[in-house]
Amino acid sequence: MSQIDVDDFAAEAGAWLAANGEPKLADDGASGEVVWGEGELDVAVFHNLSHGDESDLLHALRSWQQRKAERGYHAITWSPAYGGLGLTASHARAFRKLESGYVVPSSHESFSVTIGLIVPTIDLFGTPEQKERHIASFLRTDELCIQLFSEPGAGSDLANLSLRADRDGDEWVLNGQKVWTSGAQFAQWGECIARSDFDAPKHKGMTAFILPLDLDGITVRPIRQMSGGQSFNEVFFDDVRVPDDMRLGDIGAGWKVALTTLGFERDHSDSGGGATNRPGGSWAQVLGLARWLGVTDQPVIRQQLADLFVNKRVEAWAAKRSADLAKGGTPGPEGSIGKLIWTENMTRMSAVVSSLLGSRLAADSGEWGTYVWNDHVLGAPGYRIAGGSDEVQRNIIGERVLGLPGEPRVDKGIPFKDVPR
Ligand SMILES: Cc1cc2nc3c(=O)[nH]c(=O)nc-3n(C[C@H](O)[C@H](O)[C@H](O)COP(=O)(O)OP(=O)(O)OC[C@H]3O[C@@H](n4cnc5c(N)ncnc54)[C@H](O)[C@@H]3O)c2cc1C
Repeated sequence: MSQIDVDDFAAEAGAWLAANGEPKLADDGASGEVVWGEGELDVAVFHNLSHGDESDLLHALRSWQQRKAERGYHAITWSPAYGGLGLTASHARAFRKLESGYVVPSSHESFSVTIGLIVPTIDLFGTPEQKERHIASFLRTDELCIQLFSEPGAGSDLANLSLRADRDGDEWVLNGQKVWTSGAQFAQWGECIARSDFDAPKHKGMTAFILPLDLDGITVRPIRQMSGGQSFNEVFFDDVRVPDDMRLGDIGAGWKVALTTLGFERDHSDSGGGATNRPGGSWAQVLGLARWLGVTDQPVIRQQLADLFVNKRVEAWAAKRSADLAKGGTPGPEGSIGKLIWTENMTRMSAVVSSLLGSRLAADSGEWGTYVWNDHVLGAPGYRIAGGSDEVQRNIIGERVLGLPGEPRVDKGIPFKDVPR
């Protein structure tokens, strides 16, 4: 079937956005300029909001997503069977570029996790019933789904997880604890990786589930972080009974499911899958700040700005290269390169704005667009850990991209119950 040309699609989408959206005053997208002092400067990496304000943000995001869903713009690359348009990543990129010229609610990690990570995982591993039950609904964000992966004893070494799943007839009984679960206080579903066989070697005895978070025995407790908000939670499982038809993938294949979801998390290829924009400030906003401060003629500042600009360009090219390599399929270990460049650039941006702002970052003077950068500086380190830390990304690049010798592993091939923990 022939597809609409990208230019024709952009003309149609542009007309729809003009009729349905509010153009940005402080335009940071199309022109690359920031009108300093106008509108709201959102440079936050994580939200620093009360529970009520965060609920309102999710409501606003959901309304915009559902409005786009009336025309399929919420899921441009997804099949019409799931409410999408079945078009290419180029069409999705064209839409995102146009959309960036409009006032839209700022992104939220539970949206990008649901749309960008969980939906493609269900598409790969789900039964026909699970796909029908979840994919269209998650793409429209009628319901949200989060990752129940990390535990107090399993982070970088995720395969060390020990939340147990015991089979009981047509059900499983889950007991244990997850931690750092982003968005669990707002989501309806979770992708949970559990240990179903303690006699199997570490990577072989896990099973994945897509389960509702309101099951009896699940307790969600928010954790406050240094940036002020409560993005993530502890989640406790006490004798939680999960029907077997909520199992995602085969029994014992949980590691494969988890790695697939993590692959989408590390993929920064901008391949157009539909996740919302990445958080955390832009080059244009940093330049706008430097111009407002009148320091763009200072040699050291110029050098820092140029360094940030060059590395942001490298980030964009690396994302494009990953998209070309993945060709719309499951992202490979190359995704770790993009994730690493992205987090290094966030650190770089924090350093530049810190030297630009000096004491304005420490004390709120009420000046527009100054103290707000704290939301960037205090949040940026989080993404150096989330989705696999910088060190872990380097290990992946070393071992799986460059083919260097692996780290020594003392737990290979032995039953999980015998692994010293
Ligand atoms: C903002 C944020 C959101 C998150 N959201 C979620 C979520 O929604 N769901 C979820 O399940 N988890 C989530 N996490 C958890 C995240 O995946 C883990 O924090 C991460 O994998 C690191 O694990 P850890 O915290 O246990 O640190 P550890 O694994 O204990 O690591 C501690 C330090 O040791 C280093 N290290 C560990 N192993 C090695 C190694 N082999 N080589 C070199 N260095 C190493 C690490 O780089 C790190 O610096 C989130 C974390 C953050 C910060």
